[in-house]
Amino acid sequence: MSINVTKTFLPPFDEYVAMLKKAWDTGFVTNGGILLQELESELKKKLGTPNLLVCSNGTIVLQMALKALGITGEVITTPFSYVATTTAILWEQCTPVFVDINEQNFCIDASKIEEAITEKTQAILATHVYGHPCDIDAIADIAGRHDLKVIYDAAHAFGSMYKGRSVMGFGDVSTCSFHATKLFHMVEGGCVISPDKDVFERLGLYRAFGHVGEDYYDIGINAKNSELHAAMGLCNLNYLEQILARQKHNWEVYATALKGTKYQMLEISADISYNYAYFPLVLHSAESLKRVLKALNEQDVWPRRYFNPALNRLPYIAYQPCSVAESIAERVICLPVYYELSETDQMRIVEILLKYQTD
Ligand SMILES: *Cc1c(COP(=O)(O)O)cnc(C)c1O
Repeated sequence: MSINVTKTFLPPFDEYVAMLKKAWDTGFVTNGGILLQELESELKKKLGTPNLLVCSNGTIVLQMALKALGITGEVITTPFSYVATTTAILWEQCTPVFVDINEQNFCIDASKIEEAITEKTQAILATHVYGHPCDIDAIADIAGRHDLKVIYDAAHAFGSMYKGRSVMGFGDVSTCSFHATKLFHMVEGGCVISPDKDVFERLGLYRAFGHVGEDYYDIGINAKNSELHAAMGLCNLNYLEQILARQKHNWEVYATALKGTKYQMLEISADISYNYAYFPLVLHSAESLKRVLKALNEQDVWPRRYFNPALNRLPYIAYQPCSVAESIAERVICLPVYYELSETDQMRIVEILLKYQTD
């Protein structure tokens, strides 16, 4: 059977149906039904973030974040993320300014942010890439000194902690995706968090067309999610600890087996707790990547080139060089670490990687 980079965790079907029945009995299947409210309150508890809204996906929440913070100018961002991080900026008519990444954890290099600030800069939008937190303290310090807003795309970071707190509690706004390919999912979905009361209120209005009953406050959008999705989220939440433990185990199998080889792996900082959502492996050249990918594909293993191309090279934006991100994007693959992956399959993958390590 083919092995892809992720495999969607599905709860036992009976559990899903039993959960769904609760909404069925009310006759309401969307617009903030009981399951969505329950999921929201579970997530608030779990993450320790009282101002949280479950929304329809992890892209629209980025757009809502920019709008709620009144961002219209330049946004300093990372060239190494999923494309939605950049397109949200463009969709909101703002200008992405790319700052290169750190070679150890692939997040934006905070030491290079200040030189990219101009009088048009209004915000920093950074991704906790692969679930590894950015240098949050350094970014907060820069933002404070230059009066910039900070948005974190935490789409990979559910379950990761920074200095003992959920990483989702940092920044002016933090967003997450609960898409089926993510560690915790509700098929399609996402959330947005803001510690600021006014910003949070605006986000709430945006989620449902900008009006409450017959009072029309602001231009909104539809970012609501349904009871069918919330039921999946609630079922999956019951398995979260198991999923996190299993991903960590699978991650460590690769880390141990590939230690001392020429492959570069993610370096986890000491002050964080990692969710082990992804296992990026950086090869020593683009040619080597092609050979390794071919060998893996021949064994019906399909890692993904997360993230290639670097986003500063997207065809619809003016090119701004970022040498580290571009070099890594050409050489990185993500190995599968998903819940159901067997150790036999992992060892098959390791065997191929060891065979090609000096190629
Ligand atoms: C998945 C992802 C998104 C988009 O989330 P959707 O729920 O698919 O819209 C945004 N940013 C990053 C970094 C992602 O990985």
